[in-house]
This record gives sequence, C-alpha cells and structure tokens, in this order.
Amino acid sequence: MPHLKRILITGGAGFLGSHLCECLVETGHDVICVDNFFTSQKRNISHLLDCSNFELVRHDIVHPLWLEVDEIYNLACPAAPGHYQYNPIKTMKTSVSGAMNVLGMAKRCRSKVLQASTSEVYGDPEVHPQPESYRGSVNPIGIRACYDEGKRAAETLFMDYHRAHDVNIRLVRIFNTYGPRMHPYDGRVVSNFIRQAITNDAITIFGDGSQTRSFCYRDDLVHGIVKMMNGTDDFIGPVNLGNPHEFTILQLAEVIIKLTDSKSKIIKKPLPKDDPVRRRPDITLAKQKLSWEPTVLLEEGLTKTIEWFRSINLDEFRAPTPNY
Ligand code: NAD
Ligand code: UDP
Repeated sequence: MPHLKRILITGGAGFLGSHLCECLVETGHDVICVDNFFTSQKRNISHLLDCSNFELVRHDIVHPLWLEVDEIYNLACPAAPGHYQYNPIKTMKTSVSGAMNVLGMAKRCRSKVLQASTSEVYGDPEVHPQPESYRGSVNPIGIRACYDEGKRAAETLFMDYHRAHDVNIRLVRIFNTYGPRMHPYDGRVVSNFIRQAITNDAITIFGDGSQTRSFCYRDDLVHGIVKMMNGTDDFIGPVNLGNPHEFTILQLAEVIIKLTDSKSKIIKKPLPKDDPVRRRPDITLAKQKLSWEPTVLLEEGLTKTIEWFRSINLDEFRAPTPNY
C-alpha cells in the first residue's frame, strides 16, 4: 500500500492534468484539481466527481490559493500556440504569478512541487537533439515568447525558491505529447490532422512540412511525471520527458491519412513566425536517473487517439479561442 498523500493538481481538468488526476485517484491519493476551464471541459474529469478522494475547485492560479497539501503538480497554463497567443499577457501572468502562488504554498506547507515546463525553453534550437544543459535560443520579443519566456521565468522562480527557501522542487521539460482528451480545436498538429482526416477535410501543413517534432503518448508522459515527483530529493531536474523518435510534419500527415483511411488532400499554409525547425529530446538523463523511457510507438498511440476522436461529437466542443 503506497503512502497516501494530499495532492494538488493545477490545470487538472486539461488534457494531461485529467490523466494525472485519474492516475493518482486510482492509486488512492486525496486529489484536489484546480482549474479555471480556459482550455478544458468539465467532461474531462466528470467521471471522477463521485470519487470520495477527488475534489474540484474552480480557481484561476494567477490569484493566491490557500490549501494544505503534501504535493503540487503545477500544470495550469494554456499549452497550444493558438491558446497561449490568444491573450499573451494572461499567459505570462499564469506562468509567473501562478508559479509564485504554488511556490508560496509549497513553502508554507513544506510540500513538494513539480513544474510542468516545456521543450519551448529551448526555443528554435541550434543544438540537436536537445540536452538539459542546452540554454536555448528563444526570441524574447516574438509571438511565442509569452509562453517560452513565461515558462523560463517559472523555472527561474522554482530554482530561486529552492536555493533561497529550500523548497523541495522538481522541474520536468515536456516535449510534444498527444493522446485522447486533447481539445479537438486546440490547433495543435496531432489534433488538427486527426480531426481533418476523419472529416475528410484538407490537412493543413504549415510551411513545407520538413520541420520536425517528436511525439510522446500521454500514458508514457504521465508515468514519467509521477516517477520524477516520487524520485529522490537529490534529483530535482530539469529533466527532459518526451519521445526521442523524430518525424517531419509531412510524415505525420501521411501516417494519419493511412491510419484513418482518409480521402483528405494535403494543402500548404504559411509557416507561423518563430516556428521551431526541429525538435527532439535527449532523454539520457531521464533514462539514467528515473529509469524512464517511452514505450508507445507513434502508430500505436495515434490509433488510440483516432479511436477517441471518432467517439466524440465534435459539435459539443467549443473552440476556446478563434486561433485554431
Ligand atoms: P491543456 O490546455 O489541455 O491544459 C491546461 C489546463 O490549465 C487547462 O485545463 C486550462 O483550463 C488550465 N488553465 C490555464 N490557465 C489557467 C489558470 N490561469 N488558472 C487555472 N487553470 C488554468 O494543456 P496540456 O497539454 O494538458 O498541458 C498541461 C501542462 O503541460 C501545461 O503547463 C503545458 O505548458 C505543459 N506542456 C504540455 C505539452 C504537451 O505537448 N501537451 C508540452 C510541453 C509542456
Ligand atoms: N502544424 C501544421 N499544421 C497544423 C498545425 C500545426 O503543419 O494544422 C505544424 C506547426 O507549424 C509546427 C508543428 O506542426 O511546426 C507542431 O505544431 P504544434 O502547434 O502542435 O506544436 P509546437 O509548434 O508548439 O511544437
């Protein structure tokens, strides 16, 4: 029987957060999900509402919150470019004020706190694949900066609370992750391509499709996050979590067309500004320190995700922003 804890998950109703809630509720922990539902729906966690060890709080983490918990997973932040660029100032506030609020809580409660950071801290990288030691190449005044620099500032705050106040922190840098419960209108490449393929709409490739990403299935990712939280206190990160198999965006489109048996045509659209040319995690550290590596192959994960997209009624989803 594991030691049962009181655990706060900010952004707990989102794509990754709802799976994390599910996983920790199943283990028996007392889970508090905090979310303002900017990019998520209650349906992601409605099946947990009857569990006696699950609690939902509607709250915006830009504002302080007073709770007593043993662990905090800080996931609250819009993650898709179309969502975080909708109100960039709010995105920065969520990252920075949100980090200060959870760190303040962790300091007061002496709780452990994990930050969901991102591969975006590496910007458009000149080093490939990206190890944690790489300091990144971010345009601080570009349209992605609200997210990239917000997450970089949050990492700084986590390290400073750790050095100044001995707060027990964990930093994970998450690379592109996909799976069931992604918002179908979030504008991310996997959700766009699957939605377009199953409705036989044109598949929109931005640029020439030669840019690369490395896609991690959500189960692998959630497993890695929990391992990092429960790892030894002498390894606080940052640690990369992602799948090291790299694909071009054109290859991703072709696989999705094949798996959905779609009649969609591929069309090209302009590449958004500052769109990183390539991205692949170096996961040597995660393997060494956490004995973690992804196990789900792209076609396997996409098949499960396509199945979920086919099971939902797209008309029931409201696009959180017009930018998809
Ligand atoms: P998501 O948009 O599905 O989830 C984010 C959740 O945070 C949503 O439920 C949203 O309503 C909530 N939220 C946003 N702002 C908030 C605020 N001010 N107060 C309270 N709640 C707020 O995205 P996701 O993919 O599940 O991402 C979760 C976390 O993981 C994010 O911090 C993101 O930056 C990080 N991450 C995700 C990926 C990925 O590929 N999925 C990659 C890198 C990092
Ligand atoms: N992309 C695309 N078509 C789409 C959506 C995205 O070609 O309909 C591209 C996008 O330009 C980027 C890649 O896919 O090069 C991944 O985009 P996503 O928004 O999923 O994530 P991020 O850029 O943050 O890694």
